[in-house]
Amino acid sequence: MIQVLYGDITKVAVDAVVNAANNSLLGGGGVDGAIHRAGGQAIIDECILIRQKQGGCETGHAVVTTAGNLSARYVIHTVGPVWRGGWEDEAQLLKNAYTSCLDIALEKGVRSIAFPNISTGVYHFPKDEAAHIAIHTVIDYLNAKNVSLDVWFVCFDNENYSIYKRLLTEVGQ
Ligand code: ADP
Repeated sequence: MIQVLYGDITKVAVDAVVNAANNSLLGGGGVDGAIHRAGGQAIIDECILIRQKQGGCETGHAVVTTAGNLSARYVIHTVGPVWRGGWEDEAQLLKNAYTSCLDIALEKGVRSIAFPNISTGVYHFPKDEAAHIAIHTVIDYLNAKNVSLDVWFVCFDNENYSIYKRLLTEVGQ
């Protein structure tokens, strides 16, 4: 099941919340800041341990931590690409970010996951193309693996929300 929601991802009741993190894993603004604020110290503590082990997180990859004070069980931190005009493999990297999160979700046996609109904030990925990649990556992945996972796309602005509504209707979701 794929659904779109308008609001704050830290308030969504799911097993796993995805964070649009940065390579350092040390927190930042936007949704990253919101998740760390709401989730508390336990999340950053685990991020620091991961950094010590593997030196952060590469673009398109993902790591998992506790969700701290959030109602979710896990936060899956992924790093989307910075938009640099479309000539630096941004589309593939964004797809990889979604796929890496789904891989971790399956590994952890989660039943529901909420994604923010990765890379569409300060990373400036065009919203329409980002939504297209997000939706098709998730649909193709769930079909290929034949798993049932509740996926929520959580939009924090009207533009993303209406794009997701339209694209999901177009694909019959
Ligand atoms: P990125 O660096 O990947 O662009 P941002 O956090 O700047 O990450 O933005 C990603 C998306 O997350 C944007 O569409 C932004 O509006 C959205 N966002 C910001 N805060 C929240 C929140 N609390 N819940 C859900 N989405 C959020």
